[in-house]
Amino acid sequence: MDELQSAASSVIADVTGAQAGCVTDCSAAGVGLAVAAAITGCDLALIDQLPVIPDDVEKRVLIQMGHMIHYGGPVPQMISISGAQLEPLGTAALCEAYHLESALKRGCAAAVYVVSHHTVREGELPMDLFIDLCDAYDTPVIVDMASEYDMRTPIELGASAVVYSGHKFMSGITSGVVAGRLPMVRAIYLQHRGLGRLMKVGKESIAGAMAALELWRDRDESAQLAFEKDIVNRWLSELTEIPGVLIEEHADWTGNPITRLKMTVDPSVAGLYAWELAARLADENPRIFVRDDLSEHGELYLDPCNVTLEEAGLVARAISEQVSRAMRDGDGCQITLSQMKRERSTAPLNWPK
Ligand SMILES: *Cc1c(COP(=O)(O)O)cnc(C)c1O
Repeated sequence: MDELQSAASSVIADVTGAQAGCVTDCSAAGVGLAVAAAITGCDLALIDQLPVIPDDVEKRVLIQMGHMIHYGGPVPQMISISGAQLEPLGTAALCEAYHLESALKRGCAAAVYVVSHHTVREGELPMDLFIDLCDAYDTPVIVDMASEYDMRTPIELGASAVVYSGHKFMSGITSGVVAGRLPMVRAIYLQHRGLGRLMKVGKESIAGAMAALELWRDRDESAQLAFEKDIVNRWLSELTEIPGVLIEEHADWTGNPITRLKMTVDPSVAGLYAWELAARLADENPRIFVRDDLSEHGELYLDPCNVTLEEAGLVARAISEQVSRAMRDGDGCQITLSQMKRERSTAPLNWPK
């Protein structure tokens, strides 16, 4: 495993421009182990002890309040699993440089920066300023970029560790890719002797992440963009006439080179709420999943990166049929926002179906 992870380190360094890297079993594990590494360094005894941390070891970890998101699991828990003491900065939609500097002055083990469409970007500190301020206090910055295309900027800006997902855009098998400065990455890798054991990465994942990184590096980006553009154009032409559904192109929230199709549903015309449309599409055979995390604002998004041109046509037909049916049968606008919220919090308890 040591040799395999060393080989992975070379591939990660090549793709990201970082000094070193290692593979974890997923990105959440990468963040958790990077925080652990910031606390223990390469002290093997401390690594054995986590999440119990001696009183004289720094364990405060800073994060902007607006970065404390839930992507399917909560960011704060991924940080505190190591025994770290989380210190939120600012308020939900405002973090100023003075919030960060005040906390840095009092000392901390690390600061975490999250890039995601889920974060509150209004009022957040930009990454370059965040890293500069942390640098002035020799505080390592761990960047969670699990779902982002840009594999070089955080390293160029001086982040100590950056975490990517091997199984999101890179389309590999489940894995986390960690890139960063050598002493930090070594300390992250060494966590496999402690906390990392209960999130043990398989050799298949390491080999898979290496292959995914190489394919990603060598991909034909303009061909992929052109392919996605064809799909969005198809949706634009096939979804124009749906009553109560406004369609438009939508640029990615965090600047990834993805254009999506945004649908704004007016329930008084379309006869159903956006979240009902999403649920009905998910019940079709084959199931159709749209991005529905903003459905409470009446918005649904179609992602061109996960479908073939043929499937895109199927999606367009299904949307148009669902709206016609709701208008004809008058069976929509039944599940209010509050009911939908209630259902979402009890549905997980019905497992297994
Ligand atoms: C998806 C995501 C994760 C978790 O990724 P896994 O590799 O599935 O653990 C972590 N952080 C962000 C910002 C994400 O979008």
